[in-house]
Order: sequence, then C-alpha cells, then structure tokens
Amino acid sequence: MRKSTPLEDLIVAMIREDGPMPIDRYMALCLGHPVHGYYMSRDPFGPDGDFITAPEISQIFGELIGVWCAAAFQALGAPRHFLLVELGPGRGTLMSDILRATKVMPGFREAAEIHLVETSPALRKLQAGKLGPAVTWHESIESLPEGPAIIIANEFFDALPISQYEFHDGRWMERRIGLNAGDRLVIGRSAFPLAEPPAVEGTILELAPIRAAVARALGERLAHSPGIALIVDYGHPASAQGDTLQAVRRHKFCSILDRPGEADLTSHVDFERLGQAFRDGGAVTFGPVTQRHYLHAMGLEARADSLARKARLPERKIIARATERLAGENQMGNLFKVMAALSPGLPTPYPFGSP
Ligand code: SAH
Repeated sequence: MRKSTPLEDLIVAMIREDGPMPIDRYMALCLGHPVHGYYMSRDPFGPDGDFITAPEISQIFGELIGVWCAAAFQALGAPRHFLLVELGPGRGTLMSDILRATKVMPGFREAAEIHLVETSPALRKLQAGKLGPAVTWHESIESLPEGPAIIIANEFFDALPISQYEFHDGRWMERRIGLNAGDRLVIGRSAFPLAEPPAVEGTILELAPIRAAVARALGERLAHSPGIALIVDYGHPASAQGDTLQAVRRHKFCSILDRPGEADLTSHVDFERLGQAFRDGGAVTFGPVTQRHYLHAMGLEARADSLARKARLPERKIIARATERLAGENQMGNLFKVMAALSPGLPTPYPFGSP
C-alpha cells in the first residue's frame, strides 16, 4: 500500500476530530505547516525542483524589473532612504538581479534598505547566501518599518490560500476536504451561507480573503506613505468562475490531494478583486497588463540581443528559448499579468500608460 506523507496523517487526524477541512486551511497547511509545509524545508525551484519561476528562467526578467525599480525610485523623488521590499523572494534571484541592474542608477543602492517577507526558513537561508547579511526578514508585511517603499511580488499572491464554493442542488456550498470509507482524503461539499447569485449546477467559485487582506493592507500603507508596488502573477484580469487550484510536483500536475506537503499548491490570481483590495486600502492601481506586454515594453529584445552578442551559439539558443518562455503568447507571456499599485498623486508608471 502507498505510504502516506506525515502531513497527510496529521490532516486525516484533524478531519476525524473537527470534520471536513475548508480548502484555505488545507492549502495553508500544505504550504506553510511549520515542519511539513511544502515551502518550509525545501528549495522547490529550478530544473531539479518542482517548478520554475520567471527569475529562475533568465536574469533578464529581474534586470528589466530592476530598470523599472530605478524609474520608481526617481518617481518617488530619489529619496535618501527607502525600503526595497520583496514579498516571497524564493531563492533571492530576482532581488539579486534587481540590485545588479540598479547599480547604474545614482543614489539607488546607497538609499535602498532591503526587506524580505518570507516565511520559509529554508528559503531564508538561500536568500541570505545570495544577498548577504544586509537584509531584514519579516514573517508578514505587518512588521515592515515606515518609510518610502518600492515593493515587488512575483508569484507571491498565488501561494496565499483560497476558499472554493460550488453551486449544488440550488445553493452554494463550501468545498472541503473530507475522508472516504478508507480514510483517504476526498473533496466534498458542506453547507455554507454564501451571498452570491445562483449559478449553473457544478459551478465553482474561488474567493481569496487572505490575498485581499494583504493587498488592502499594502494599499493602506501606500495611502499614507509614498510607495510603488509591482505585482506579477499568473491569473485573470477580470473575475471569472471555475476551479483553478492546482498542484505541481516535479514539473507535473497532480491532484491537490496527492502527497500533501510534497506538492506546490497555487491558484490563479483574480486581478480584478486584488486590484479592488489595493484601491479599498487607498492606493491607485494600473493594469494588469500581460507579462508579454510589460517585458517587451521594458526592452526585453534589446537586452536579449545584447546578451546574445556576447554569447556563443549554445548560449544564444538558451537566451532565445528563455525569452520565448517568458513572453511567448502560449507560454508565460499571456498567462502572467503585471499590475502596479501606487500612492495617490504619483505619475502613471511606464509601461502602464503605453498602448
Ligand atoms: N518570487 C520567487 C518565489 C515564488 S514562490 C520567484 O519568483 O522565484 C512563493 C514564495 O513565497 C516563496 O518564497 C515562499 O516561501 C513564499 N511564501 C509563501 N507563502 C508565504 C507567506 N504567507 N508569507 C510570506 N512568504 C510566503
């Protein structure tokens, strides 16, 4: 018989005790359980890991975001001191590419104080290795100090838990994880008073109050203290129904119930609701635009050409493939979106005003 994971045993015991478990609780445990959570003990990125993210595909991604940060720094009036914040920095690759690309901007590096919001001890260690000791870590955005800020988040919001609801027999019910007769995890439905208009039988609706709370808190910060945030994630520009929760293990999709704690669980970011939450907090938002639009407008081709000119043929092919992967229509280019959130009164950041 297949051996269960330690986290699966724990979850089965919790369900036996408390009844079916809401999806958000399940997702939070799978990703963030202090001992057995997916991110807590491993480095999931790269070809040998479970999935790959844009900064790990090519240095160009982080360099172009670095150029954007340099412009944001100027838009903030080139402050003598500001917080350069990253939410969910993974291996630290994006931050390290941003820092390299902003070296040419006078005053940026001297003014930047780096703050990383990261819950995983294993990833904090990797980040420390890459970025050195002059970094401050935070469990959540709440402990970030006051002051002007540039805030970056790539594939952060997709990892924050969501709830799922299903329209069944004329009413909305919450999807929860329960147990079958053999004590294996199954997805079921529990009564739940959700104030949403009726839908077609079987329709699934995802809500993400935790994501909204983080976005709203960031919006409140931007409302009272000058700052510019860039959010990059996969998802849809307008709210839509459907099940987007997915599990990935060793670069393959699997069931969200397979090997709890050993697969990455994420879901599409609903940029309409996320943007609304930033605005509810008091920020002004721009976009989302597609990652394809954003990267091209930021100079993806020119940067790829300049790298390719210095490279040999095999590396040139790698650069071309990476560029296609980041911005190709059927790759990350259209699926991933980029949104900016700003303090009121700041100018529209490029390339959000551009066609
Ligand atoms: N931005 C990186 C990593 C994305 S994966 C990249 O693009 O490569 C998600 C990151 O968010 C990981 O670093 C993970 O440990 C972190 N994370 C997940 N949930 C978190 C939470 N609730 N608070 C802070 N960090 C979290």
